[in-house]
Amino acid sequence: MKSYHEIIETTYKEVKKTKDKGKIATYIPELGNVSSDNFGASISTIDDKTFGVGNCDEKFSIQSISKILTLTLAYKLEGEKLWERVDVEPSGNPFNSLQQLDADKGKPRNPFINAGAIVICDVLVSRLENPKEDFLKFCREVADNDTINYCEKVAQSEKETGFRNFALCNFIKSFDNIKNDVDKVLDFYFYTCSLEMSCKELSETFLYLTEDNFSTCKGNRVLSKSEAKRVNAIMLTCGFYDESGEFAFRVGLPGKSGVGGGIIAIHPNEYCIAVWSPKLNPKGNSYKGMLFLEKFTSATTSSIF
Ligand code: GLU
Repeated sequence: MKSYHEIIETTYKEVKKTKDKGKIATYIPELGNVSSDNFGASISTIDDKTFGVGNCDEKFSIQSISKILTLTLAYKLEGEKLWERVDVEPSGNPFNSLQQLDADKGKPRNPFINAGAIVICDVLVSRLENPKEDFLKFCREVADNDTINYCEKVAQSEKETGFRNFALCNFIKSFDNIKNDVDKVLDFYFYTCSLEMSCKELSETFLYLTEDNFSTCKGNRVLSKSEAKRVNAIMLTCGFYDESGEFAFRVGLPGKSGVGGGIIAIHPNEYCIAVWSPKLNPKGNSYKGMLFLEKFTSATTSSIF
């Protein structure tokens, strides 16, 4: 059997040559300044070995991949009570959709669409003394990496253009499912989305969602086995907006994407893999990233199913 390293290298070369049919996200103007040629990937296995290819060391805007980290921290703090505020159903709708919230009385379908992540941020604003600082500290601890930081420019750019997120937050507040001041919640939300990490940092950080004792590499437990199972389950069913079924069908792993062009995916017994290519398909997921992961998991013999 070929090693993961060999499969990654071959898959990378093959996908790099493929014509990219995606488009870079420009609805957040600052994201449009990234070179669309970037393409990198990294795998970290449960025996703590990491291997990367291409632009695997370059930091980029992880956007909605941060929704796993906000969910993890809120889940740790709130426990099962959290699900009274946000559901765990796929939405089948775009990431920034306002539909369903009226009928669902302000309870978002899941924590990985914007509406759900905004409610999770509200929970964190209630719970944390200094939300931005405390959340960054949590991310650095989980990643065992003090270089992880927010990008001020991206956060400001989102604040200036995030009209739909303002609409979502105000609408949810009208159902009393936002407890704090809307501007405070959104300021925190925009900063969480602006986190910058490289593929290598991502694949190492999210190893806590694998069977590796659900801990950081220093051995500090992040989630219990049962909590990690639940987060993985939500990633599998809701991690790719209205393309979650397609991702599960083509790639067959729990994962999460962001509009910066990053994707992480978890094989719960073996590895975390991260890929980055900024051009997105019409559903907002990295075009080459999805193709890469589809080819990668097809070439490995190990499946979670
Ligand atoms: N910051 C982005 C937004 O709120 C996140 C979107 C995403 O990556 O799915 O629009």
